[in-house]
Amino acid sequence: MPDGPTLIPIPVFTEYAWHLPCPQCDADARQPCQAPRKQSRHDRLNKLLTQNGRDPIPAPEYGFMHAQRTAAGVRHRARDIGAAPWREDRTPGVRYDTIDRSEPWTAPSRSDHPELILAPDDVDRSGRARLGANRYDRSTIAWPYGLEDGVARAVRKDPERLARALVHLAVGRSTLVSWASHYGLTSSRREPCCTRWLTRPAHRVCRLDPMTGDRECWDGYSYGRDWRDHPMAWTTTEGRPAALTSAPYLRPEHVATELDILTSRDERLAWISGADGWYGFHTHQIVIWRRDLLGRIDTADRIRDAVQTALSPAIAPPGTT
Ligand SMILES: [Zn+2]
Ligand SMILES: [Zn+2]
Repeated sequence: MPDGPTLIPIPVFTEYAWHLPCPQCDADARQPCQAPRKQSRHDRLNKLLTQNGRDPIPAPEYGFMHAQRTAAGVRHRARDIGAAPWREDRTPGVRYDTIDRSEPWTAPSRSDHPELILAPDDVDRSGRARLGANRYDRSTIAWPYGLEDGVARAVRKDPERLARALVHLAVGRSTLVSWASHYGLTSSRREPCCTRWLTRPAHRVCRLDPMTGDRECWDGYSYGRDWRDHPMAWTTTEGRPAALTSAPYLRPEHVATELDILTSRDERLAWISGADGWYGFHTHQIVIWRRDLLGRIDTADRIRDAVQTALSPAIAPPGTT
């Protein structure tokens, strides 16, 4: 006899709390609280228990959560119970909780050979879609610093420098849009405050500490310095923060320790460094990204090489072979 749907119970309050952000430590929904004291109290107790030949107490299913987050879970649950019919009147198979579970995401698999976007019209179309319109001049595309229209305008009276600038722009822009399309990324119109931005489910800046008034950032309010030279922030098409790219002149070994420490703060993060990327000028592209959202990622260098090869007969500046 086939089983019909069963009655779905209202989840426990800790499950409610898990799907809510923590008002106390600013942890996002579905991210563990930063509660080191609760953890060490638990560790101490378990040490005592095992020393006395007793079984240790398992950690709670949703980790150690702050009291304010738990309380928010309890309130949400109470509202759902209040709104649901009496138990005996509930329909089997129907969910009576209103938890926003935000469907789990699986990183897409991609071809090893990114499709190159080369034709100027296609590059512009893709640039407009991936980067949006320039804030100050809506008729132009918001190319990042170093790839804006001004680069060619500045040297327009010198044919040789103009030719070089046009090559630089063609290669850089084509590389950028090919890379972004390959990974399904869109440039964020809003600026992140720090690397912690990548851990958020949607754009949000870190909140201000109520005591000191400082922003509770990971790496300070320092977006745009050191390894963050020429920064760009990227989201998935759904607007989820997914990657930060930069192009510092610093060599990767000078920033590796900092990036290792930063990415070790959340197991979903990883970083990689490369060469010119789309910025050029002997910079070293850095990509920090969300592994769970994007899977494996490469810097833009391989794409740049392929773009350069594909465009070379069309863009070789006069006097070069
Ligand atoms: Zn918390
Ligand atoms: Zn921050």
